[in-house]
Amino acid sequence: MQITRLRLSGFKSFVDPADLAIEPGLTGIVGPNGCGKSNLLEAMRWAMGENSPKSMRGAGMEDVIFAGTGTRPQRDFAEVSLHAEQVAGPDAEVEVVRRIERGAGSAYRINGADVRAKDVALLFADAATGAHSPALVSQGRIGAVIAAKPGERRQMLEEAAGIAGLHVRRKDAEQRLRATETNLARLDEIIADQD
Ligand code: ATP
Repeated sequence: MQITRLRLSGFKSFVDPADLAIEPGLTGIVGPNGCGKSNLLEAMRWAMGENSPKSMRGAGMEDVIFAGTGTRPQRDFAEVSLHAEQVAGPDAEVEVVRRIERGAGSAYRINGADVRAKDVALLFADAATGAHSPALVSQGRIGAVIAAKPGERRQMLEEAAGIAGLHVRRKDAEQRLRATETNLARLDEIIADQD
């Protein structure tokens, strides 16, 4: 999967709509301290489903919404859209949008259709990337990789191999299996009652 475009509006310091084309090859973002370089990487991770406000450097998820300045009022929503090209899959081009409104939480869309956070996480996990991908190297991340425990390293390798989504699907399948077993047991009881 190649991420080709990042659009954001009302996200942290990016109050006005901003549109960044991500060309093939190495992309560097340069600028003075506090100009919003880290906010761009965070916007990418947020659109991929990041659900820890702490890792977005906030106390709550609504802290990603533009908080206002002396001259501009705060915004009521933030929206980030990621365009990507997939190597395989039914749609070669995919657009993932995450939007958060004050008091209403987050909503996700894939190619215009409303989806669950889990669908977005699976889309990126299958493409060997995602909000926690080691490919997104934020400040302090290198130290964290070096200090990671064996279980955490295994998780990174599984994400890199694109198999992390299988664990989620397995858990889902096990839950459905348990629910079906409960239904079958209940059915047996009903049949036995009727005999
Ligand atoms: P450095 O080079 O120091 O790491 P940076 O270019 O990575 O800086 P960021 O950390 O991305 O900069 O941006 C910090 C700026 O974003 C600060 O000015 C902060 O006030 C602003 N900011 C963060 N959250 C919000 C918000 N919710 N509303 C408005 N501005 C915000």
